Amino acid sequence: MTEVLRQARRIVVKVGSSLVTNEGRGVDAEAIGNWCRQLAALAEQGRELVMVSSGAIAEGMLRLGWSTRPKELREQQAAAAVGQMGLVQMYETKLREHGMRSAQVLLTHADLADRERYLNARSTLLTLLALQVIPVINENDTVVNEEIKFGDNDTLGALVANLVEADALVILTDQRGLYSADPRKVPQARFIDEAEAGDPALEQMAGGAGSSIGRGGMITKVLAAKRAAGSGASTVIAWGREPDVLLRLAAGERIGSALVARTAKLTARKQWMVDHLQLRGAVIVDDGAVQKLRDEGKSLLPIGVVEVQGDFQRGDVIAVRGAVGKELARGLANYSSTETRLIARKPSTQIEAALGYVNEPELIHRTNLVLSQAEPG
Ligand code: GLU
Repeated sequence: MTEVLRQARRIVVKVGSSLVTNEGRGVDAEAIGNWCRQLAALAEQGRELVMVSSGAIAEGMLRLGWSTRPKELREQQAAAAVGQMGLVQMYETKLREHGMRSAQVLLTHADLADRERYLNARSTLLTLLALQVIPVINENDTVVNEEIKFGDNDTLGALVANLVEADALVILTDQRGLYSADPRKVPQARFIDEAEAGDPALEQMAGGAGSSIGRGGMITKVLAAKRAAGSGASTVIAWGREPDVLLRLAAGERIGSALVARTAKLTARKQWMVDHLQLRGAVIVDDGAVQKLRDEGKSLLPIGVVEVQGDFQRGDVIAVRGAVGKELARGLANYSSTETRLIARKPSTQIEAALGYVNEPELIHRTNLVLSQAEPG
């Protein structure tokens, strides 16, 4: 695991409400400043960072003069809308102090379940990372309240790790990590340094399936690690106030509990594509495109497409076939079948003239493309 973090190129860091707001005393400038300094230093090393931060409700409550968390969800959602302003303001200020640009992104689970929105969110985030901007993500609490009710953004952290195909998810919390039992009640509770993400024993340790799933307890973190492992990301749960925690983790130091993903990133992605058995359509490509895809690992451009089959939407999984009809690859289409018919055989510079807008220059970006197993011989 120490290797995983040391070599991780793309890291999602998630911080919970109590850390961000110092137990509800308002956005903690010093703590956020500390993480931002570390994020900037990691960016300097060539890593790509995404911050998933809670704390909007806690900050909003303070601004509204509420001393206890309101029972009604609509009031919590209103507090989140107020507090989000202060939260992003703090990240923006602190990241700028360290020479980094930031962006606010509000997401919901439903956004990521919808293929078109999934692809839009993914390409926006990947574009931000390519521009060396650090996205600061929270749940869009106005329209949904899953994390308010259950997760304190643990699940969102994992979904974001899946979305950007992070190498690692670091969940910073007010505990040192995961114990085999509640250390306050069981003195012989053992600290878990390392385990396999998704091991059912972890769920037992973190509270068991039958226990009430509180907001952001260990159970939501263990489940987040399992979810992150689905796309090949390993998770570390560590104390957010540990000095230089992010820098030390990235240097390979063992801190907190590591929940390691068993499946490698590429295999996980391939599996996901293969599992999308319901192909919505296909494109037949010319020999030039076959070579670019198979031999050079390039994206599929509209110019290589000679025929469009079926009816698909942006974000659907489609097959890419060669002239003889053999499946060459599968990938997420950036354009619908109707659009693809209009841009097929055209250079990407003509997409705008053909459609009136450009999503991306590629029909399938290479990061959304999985080559089919080459046949022997
Ligand atoms: N998205 C919420 C926030 O940022 C989740 C955390 C919570 O429920 O306190 O405040």
